[in-house]
Amino acid sequence: MDWISIQKELAHEPAYRMRQVKKALFVDFIETWDEVTVLPKALREKLSVEFPLGVTAKTLVSKDDATVKALITLKDSKQIESVLMRHESGRNTVCVSSLVGCPMGCTFCATATMGMVRKLTADEIVLQVLFFARLLKREKARVGSVVFMGMGEPFLNYEAVIEAVRMLHDPEMFGIGARHISISTCGILEGIQRLTKEDIPVNLAISLHGSNDEVREKLMPVARTYTIEKLMETIDEYIQVTNRKVMFEYLLVEGVNDADEHARELGKIIKGKLCMVNLISYNPTGKYTATSEKQINHFKSLLEKAKVEVSIRYRFGRDIEGACGQLATKSSS
Ligand code: SF4
Repeated sequence: MDWISIQKELAHEPAYRMRQVKKALFVDFIETWDEVTVLPKALREKLSVEFPLGVTAKTLVSKDDATVKALITLKDSKQIESVLMRHESGRNTVCVSSLVGCPMGCTFCATATMGMVRKLTADEIVLQVLFFARLLKREKARVGSVVFMGMGEPFLNYEAVIEAVRMLHDPEMFGIGARHISISTCGILEGIQRLTKEDIPVNLAISLHGSNDEVREKLMPVARTYTIEKLMETIDEYIQVTNRKVMFEYLLVEGVNDADEHARELGKIIKGKLCMVNLISYNPTGKYTATSEKQINHFKSLLEKAKVEVSIRYRFGRDIEGACGQLATKSSS
């Protein structure tokens, strides 16, 4: 879907045509132009030829049906992954990619092995949500929230990510509340500073994964550029300006960052701030071993003792290569 070109094409038409097309694409989630019967036949035919709406994708569904993973092939044959997570509450969350590959080199991440391939356009980001919105429409359900936690560091593609956020938030398009859109960064301070000044109150999540710089550097090379101290200073400013709670993602990896002393260190960093910690069980991609459930629960209890708000997120879709980049890297190798 090329929304910019579609808008250019419709610029020659009466203004109400734009509204009709916007509604058809982003509210009714049409899959072919023939469905838009309010448009003249000639225009429908023209749009069908110039802007086909099909998405080339392979899908994998987890055994429990809660997770659907899509491997989407873009116009230039590059592939990206997007995931639909159906929560027990009934909410449907789509996890989108913002880059093809990623240059950040996190040692636990399958996408990192691809290196940087290219940035996605805002349209390509939105297309991922559109794909699942169409799928859910067939079940009379909707996308309730979007998280930028798929392939690629979102702040390396800042402009396109924010443009996509605006499209997702636009009441005439997807109409997803800003509080139901989350951007997750490995800690690019410039991106956090820019987001602090945006007028759109999306959620910010930080992939921390280490309670001190030494541990963090083992897992995330970005930690060599930005220390935890600098990161927390930037987070403090963000909270001061926005008054929005920040979520810290902490992936537990056996023997690396899951000892009791790490929980205590983490508690000291987070305590007293408008923040919460989300402990994530590691979905093995080869290099590391996942922390046992018993230790995850113990780690959680230590944080609770330190008066830190904490939850545990077990990875969705373990049986379908649930960690980001696992499908795309297999497909391209
Ligand atoms: S975890 Fe995120 S930031 Fe790190 S390499 Fe993977 S995609 Fe990039």
